This record gives sequence, C-alpha cells and structure tokens, in this order.
Amino acid sequence: MGPGFSDGSPATACRNRTGERVGTVTESSERTREIYLNSYVAALAIVAVALFSLCAWMLRLQRVSGRWVELLLFIGMICLCEIKPIVVARSNGIKEIVASTTFTFATFLVFGPVMAMAAQAGASILGDFFAKKRFVKVVFNIVQYWTAWGLAALVFVAIAGQDALGSVGSNWRWSVAVLAAGLSYFVINNGMVGVAIALSTGNRVLRVARDTIIQEAVSDCVLLALSPIVVIVADKSLFFLPLLLLPVLAVYRSASISAEKEHQALHDSLTDLPNRLSFEASLQRRLSQPRMGAHKAAVMLIDLDRFKEVNDTLGHQAGDALLGLIGPRIVQILPPDSAVARLGGDEFAVMLMQVPNQTEALAIAARIGEALDEPFRIDEFNLEVEASIGVALFPDHGQTSDVLIKRADIAMYVAKGRQSGVELYDSEQDHHSTRRLGLISELRKAIADGEIVLYYQPKLDLRTGRVSAVEALVRWVHPQLGVIPPSDFVPVAEHTGLIRPLTTFVLATASRQAAEWAALGDELSVAVNLSARSLHDGGIIHEVSSNLIRFDIPARLLRLEITESSIMADPVRARRILEQLHDMGVALSIDDFGTGYSSLSYLQDLPVNEIKIDQSFITKLVDNGADQVIVRSTIDLARNLGLSSTAEGVEDEAALAWLREAGCDHAQGYQIARPMTAEALEVWLGHHNEALAAAERAKVAPSLKLVTRQDGTQG
Ligand code: C2E
Ligand code: CA
Ligand code: CA
Repeated sequence: MGPGFSDGSPATACRNRTGERVGTVTESSERTREIYLNSYVAALAIVAVALFSLCAWMLRLQRVSGRWVELLLFIGMICLCEIKPIVVARSNGIKEIVASTTFTFATFLVFGPVMAMAAQAGASILGDFFAKKRFVKVVFNIVQYWTAWGLAALVFVAIAGQDALGSVGSNWRWSVAVLAAGLSYFVINNGMVGVAIALSTGNRVLRVARDTIIQEAVSDCVLLALSPIVVIVADKSLFFLPLLLLPVLAVYRSASISAEKEHQALHDSLTDLPNRLSFEASLQRRLSQPRMGAHKAAVMLIDLDRFKEVNDTLGHQAGDALLGLIGPRIVQILPPDSAVARLGGDEFAVMLMQVPNQTEALAIAARIGEALDEPFRIDEFNLEVEASIGVALFPDHGQTSDVLIKRADIAMYVAKGRQSGVELYDSEQDHHSTRRLGLISELRKAIADGEIVLYYQPKLDLRTGRVSAVEALVRWVHPQLGVIPPSDFVPVAEHTGLIRPLTTFVLATASRQAAEWAALGDELSVAVNLSARSLHDGGIIHEVSSNLIRFDIPARLLRLEITESSIMADPVRARRILEQLHDMGVALSIDDFGTGYSSLSYLQDLPVNEIKIDQSFITKLVDNGADQVIVRSTIDLARNLGLSSTAEGVEDEAALAWLREAGCDHAQGYQIARPMTAEALEVWLGHHNEALAAAERAKVAPSLKLVTRQDGTQG
C-alpha cells in the first residue's frame, strides 16, 4: 500500500512521457543517487528477510483448518486491491492508493503476520506484473511490506503477547496492540517510501519522509481502522463480510471523485493536457529542486499561426478537433522528462527538464515546428497550421516559472512578427517587444486620436509613364517614438485581434482619400493591403461595400492586395470572398508573389486582376541572372493568363529599364517614389505630370528619374 517511490516523483502532474524516474543533474550525480537508492533497497531487503525469518521462527502459524474460506476470501481481496489500485491526483502528481492494507492487516490479526506477509508479497508481485513495474520497484514493494509488517508484528507481540494473535478481540490489550501495530505499520511504511523518494530525487530525506507520512495519513488510517472491524465481523459470521466491502468501495468512490475533481482543476477539458495553473506549478516545483543547480531546462511557448482561420471557416468543432491533435504531435518529438500543456486558446507550452545546451533546445523547438507544419487531417480537409515558438532557457533567461514563461512569450511574439518559426529569448527583443506589446495596447486609442495615418506610394504605368494608382501603406505617427513602420505593429495587431479596427480605419481612410482625389479630377485608384485575418473575417464584404456607398466612389477606385499565403491559408473560403469582392467590381491583386507556394495556374482560377512580383526578386534584378529568369517568366505567364504584372521594390534606373524591356506592366519602388502623405503625393503628382507633359512635348522618353522624398520634395 502507499506510494511507490517512482510514482511519487514530482512533475507527474504534467505528462511524463516515460513514467520513469525523473531528472538528472549531471551524469555523475545521477549515478551517485542511483547508487544511494540501490544501496538503500539492498539494505532494506536484508532487514526485510531477517524480519520475515524472525517472525516465521518466533511466531507459530495460526490454525487455518476450518477457516479456509475466510483465508481465501482475505487473500482474494488483497490480490484484487493490488491489481486495482485507487488512482488519486495529488498536487505533486498522480499516485495510487492500494486498499489491500485493510485485508492484509485482517489476515495479520487472524492468521498471523507470516501469513499476511506471504499473501501481501504474492499479491504485490501480481499487481506489479499487471502494472508492468520495473524490477527494482517490485523488489522494493515486497521489502517495504515485509519490513513494515514485520516490525508491526514485533510491536503487537510485545504488547499483547503471542497468544493474542488469532484470538480476536480477546481483551483490552488486544485492542491497544492492534492500534499500536497499525500505527507502526503506517509510520514505517510511509517513512521508508519517503526516504526512497528523497534519494531518487535528491531532496532532503527527513522532509520528504515527513511530507509523505502526512500526505498518506487520512487514507491509510481509514484503511487500517477497517481491519479490526473486518476481523470481528468475520469472526461472528462470514456471511456479513461482503457488507464490509461497502466502506472500502466508498473509499474507492470518494477517492476517484476527488481524483477526478483534482484532474479537472489541473487539466484542460478539451485536450486533457495540463492547464496553465498546473504547468506553472509543476515547472516551479521542478525548478526549485536542489538538483536543478547544474541543470539547463527550457520553456517553450507555442502559438498556432492560423488557428483562428480554421475556427472561423470550418467551425468550432473542427477547431476543437485540431487542438486535440496538437498535444500528441508535440509529445512525439519530446525527449524524456518533458511535458506539454495547453495554456489556453491556441497556445501551448512545453517544458524540457534535461537539455544539454541551447543548440539542442532550439533543435527540439525546430522539430516541434516541423511536426506542426505537417497538415492535420480533419474530416475531409487537410489543414495547415504553422506555429510560432518562443524559447527561454533556465537558468540563463530566468530562475522562476513565471519569468521563464513570460520570456518565452516575448520570444514567441518575435517569432510571430518575423515569421521565423522559432526564436530564442534575448533581452534586446525584450526591450523591443515590451515596447511593442506596450504599444499594442495603445493602438485602439491611437486610431481614435488620429495617430494612425496612411502614406501613399505611386504605381507607375511602364508603357505610358502615367500614375493612375497608389498603394496605401499604414504608419503610426507616435507622439514620443516618431513614425513606426507597419512591420512593428501590424503582425502584433493580427495576433491580438486589433487588426479589425485597424483594417476598418485603413479601408475608410483610403476610400475617403480616393473620393477626395476623384472630386479634384484625379482618378487615382487606391490599393489597400488586407491581412490574412481580415480576408477571412466574414465582415470584409460588408465593410468594403459600405465604404463604397458612404464615400460614393466607383468600385474600380478601390483595390485590395492579398498575399498568396493568406489565400492558401484557406483557399476555399478565400475564393468565395474574392469572388464576392470581384462581383462588386473591386480590383484584386496578389501581393508578394513568388514567396508562397501557390502556382500561377492555381491563381488563374481566382478572380484576380494583378500580381505583384515580390521585391526580393526585383532589388538585385540587374546582377542576378536567376532572378531575371524568374521575373521574366512570371511577367510572361501573367500576360498569358490575362493578368497585369507589377514589380515592387524598384530601386534603380537599370531595373526600371530592364522591366520595361521585359514587358512588365507597372512598377513601384523608391526609384519612382517613396511612400508619402496624401498632400505630398499631390505635389509629387503635379511635378510628375508636368515632367511627363514636357517630355512628350520634347518627344523624348519620359524622365523617370524623379525621386520624391516622403515630404513630397523631389531629390
Ligand atoms: P507590402 O504590401 O509588400 O508593401 C510594400 C513595402 O515595400 C512597403 O513597406 C514599402 O514602403 C516598401 N517599399 C516600397 N518601395 C520599395 C523599394 O524600392 N525598396 C524597398 N526596400 N522597399 C520598398 P511598408 O510600408 O513598411 O509596409 C510593409 C508591409 O506592411 C507591407 O508590405 C504590408 O504587408 C504591410 N502593410 C502596410 N500597410 C498595411 C495595412 O494598411 N494593412 C495591412 N494589413 N498591412 C499593411
Ligand atoms: Ca502590398
Ligand atoms: Ca508586397
């Protein structure tokens, strides 16, 4: 009965993959502990065998004849209880209570300690066999029982004498002896287990032994107290014995209810993984073990990048099913002595308690990322969710669970922002991210206060030299920090749901601006960038149409730019939304083309009008033959598919000339103009059109060397 030393090891509250004894500091201290533990078990084994022999020699066996049924009944119950332990959740892990104690003690009182010890040993081997326990554990259990019962027998005989054994309830001394024997068994048994746990975990022996005794007090005392009642009842009539099963069943029942409750409190009901509370507590407990001194441990925070889209498009059931598959995928990758938990939403956490170094921690994180990149099969869909993983190391980045979790969280945000998959915490990021995370809470207010503005970058028609379209690019003009680029707040806004008010603002501002320019006689179409989240958000159709009505502009003056990857996040839904937008007359562009996985032939099927060749192919175009091949074939394919092509990131005259020669339709980039405010753009456009007219008058090719700074002045 009572806890076994491997069951009692901490951190089992979070799934311990192996179920084995946990943790090592260094090879050598691990070996030292192993030696201590084995020596302890060996020493106890000698004591146990000696006690068994002493009892067998000193105490005569009680008469069994005529009481066979009773004996078999007791042994049967002992075996049953060993095979079916009561599983209870304790704050420091799952543990088992074995109710055989009641019947072993009853056997002890009626048939003598030797019989009890023999029966208990047989049943324990049987139970351990079913539970597939390790050999050392099986031996320890027997040793533990024999030592505790053997000493209890000496106590009993010392108080009541040999004759009291088997003569149930004969006098008051019998009662005192029963009490004393029960108590000795309880203290010795749990004390021994406590010492074993302390030796195997490297904790203080006395403290663990004391804690174990206190922890087991209630359940053990109830089980032991039942024994004399069992004995007395059996003495009167075996017929009533089954009735005594009721209290034992009650112990089972209440233990399993409380185990269930504990489990619920510590686990997430959807995935059955440990929850945040349990993860934090278990991590803290592990970190504060003295043997963690020389250890490196790692905490990882994992956030799914496209979970919301799955939830929004396929419904919560699919989302829930997906979440249920994440834990098992992660577990496959984890080395022994690790645990995974769900912190909430689409956020998971991992603790690795034995990592040799930072490289290994990052390699494991990368493997988790790869495993999560593989599609998940749900219903008939293959869902792709990528993950962003932040890693923080103990003791380098923090000593306590909350600091480590917070820092892994910051690294995760950075991974999300950079779309880099995995990031290791670094204090530089912290600076940056705290600023960003702080910023993001101000974003809503910033929109209301007019700190969010749109810059516009002209798009040049390479055939005519005219500019009839611009791209709206958002900026945050912060009163203290100056102009903040979108890369510093758009990804975080996407992550926090603030992308919605931001998109609403950008769409309305761009539409109003297009209306103003149209009223001035300049028909400039304005392109707005739509993030993945905004594209898949069902409200976008209504939002676009209400802006067209509100500002009374024709749909052709509004263009939406969508990246390949946000379409591929959910092609079916994306197509539906794009078709509706197209039917409204809104022009659609595929942004950053060439960086995703989609093929032009797939895009041909979508109702888009334009592809924007990603700037990574354009900026080094003139010196890079491979880029030239890609760009040229993209331009040709686009033309064949009836799409117009725009090159982004044109930074020099040579690239511009090359693109014009290659038949590219439009170009955008610093060589033409940087993004600028609406007023600056109007000035720039005035100069540009004048230059164009002058060039036409002079019948020479239009000068395209105009470079305009963001304030609209030319340089
Ligand atoms: P994008 O849609 O690919 O925008 C083009 C980016 O390239 C802009 O950066 C622009 O300033 C920059 N750029 C233009 N010409 C050149 C050039 O010749 N050389 C180089 N190196 N860069 C050039 P920006 O404004 O910082 O925007 C970055 C990204 O932020 C955008 O990439 C877009 O994905 C996102 N973004 C901007 N505004 C919005 C918005 O209103 N909503 C959403 N959801 N995303 C936005
Ligand atoms: Ca764009
Ligand atoms: Ca782009």
